[in-house]
Amino acid sequence: MYRSGREEIEEVAKVLLSNQWFRVGDPAKGHLQETVRFEREWENYTGAKFAILMSGGGTAALTCALAGLGIGPGDEVIVPAFTWMATATCVLTVGAIPVLADIDETMTLDPEDFERRISTNTKAVIPVHMSGRVCNMDKILAIADKYGISVVEDSCQAIGAEYKGRKTGTFGKAGAFSLNWYKIISSGGEGGIFVSSDRRIFERAFIFHDSGSLFRPIAGELEEEIFVGQQYRASETMAAIARVQLSRLDGILRDLRSSATKLKEQIQAKYKNAKFAPDNDEKGNCGTCVVLQFEDEKSAREFAASWQCGAYLGIDHGKHVYTCWEPLLKKRIMHHPRMNPFNFQENRNLRMDYSEATCRRTLEILKRTVFVPVLI
Ligand SMILES: *Cc1c(COP(=O)(O)O)cnc(C)c1O
Repeated sequence: MYRSGREEIEEVAKVLLSNQWFRVGDPAKGHLQETVRFEREWENYTGAKFAILMSGGGTAALTCALAGLGIGPGDEVIVPAFTWMATATCVLTVGAIPVLADIDETMTLDPEDFERRISTNTKAVIPVHMSGRVCNMDKILAIADKYGISVVEDSCQAIGAEYKGRKTGTFGKAGAFSLNWYKIISSGGEGGIFVSSDRRIFERAFIFHDSGSLFRPIAGELEEEIFVGQQYRASETMAAIARVQLSRLDGILRDLRSSATKLKEQIQAKYKNAKFAPDNDEKGNCGTCVVLQFEDEKSAREFAASWQCGAYLGIDHGKHVYTCWEPLLKKRIMHHPRMNPFNFQENRNLRMDYSEATCRRTLEILKRTVFVPVLI
């Protein structure tokens, strides 16, 4: 979260004073419709037909996307080895098995490795627009199409990013954004957004996100049968904050992108041979960080130590490197062994190997890549 101010406080105050804090309410009785308004604004902003603001974060949004697609036991979902663990664990939440694939030098899913890891059980792929840097969507979509695989975009770290002039999150069957405090904008510390342009996937995601869908006004419009899901409903206060944050988003991105350009120039001026990571769409990236690549770990460490300003090696990113996802590596999933997808009969022939050897190339790249955060 880069910016906040009085506007957030004022809009939250209006909701609190209205005394209507639930997402559904009667405008004639003073309900402000903040959640619904945010959802319409996000649809306008991204170009997706349907958006759902939710609590439970980007993780909930990803889970709703997979539930919306009907992914479950017996299915494999390909995810990159460099991301936040939730990209992989949301797959387990719906009973399917995540298969890790390598990233390339763009620090996003390597389309060629994605293709190599496809099996007859692969039902979906989750490309991650990592660190605000967009994936090679043309190649990923072409491969997914060739094998009949659904694409769910994890745009949690890339709010407002674009690939060839179109907002990320809208290329696949569904997309997810995170509004937690560490992301570009926030809905008050936690939050997430699901998007899709497919009515059926949206309806199923909506049902999954609201355990009480049956009793909401939307129930009458749903074509999909209502089933029991989870409870990820947004509150009106989080929506009020999200709306103000959205109004700040383009300004934040403009400043991030211009600061990133300046930072690159400063680095280049001092290190003539600096090699920046290749981009799939440089203009579309959010500009939250500048990424450099070196011949080896030693030179990467030397650069990070001399540049400072928060510079760090990808391999030291801890939580974003798959070898650090201990509960997943140890296959400790859910609260009960019979609900652990690794124990499901339907999953017994699927690939579930998560060792150092699984994504060697990712580890090799991370060891010689340096991230420098962009400040605004
Ligand atoms: C933050 C993040 C998520 C999950 O978002 P939460 O809001 O924390 O649930 C998923 N994927 C990536 C790549 C993230 O950075």
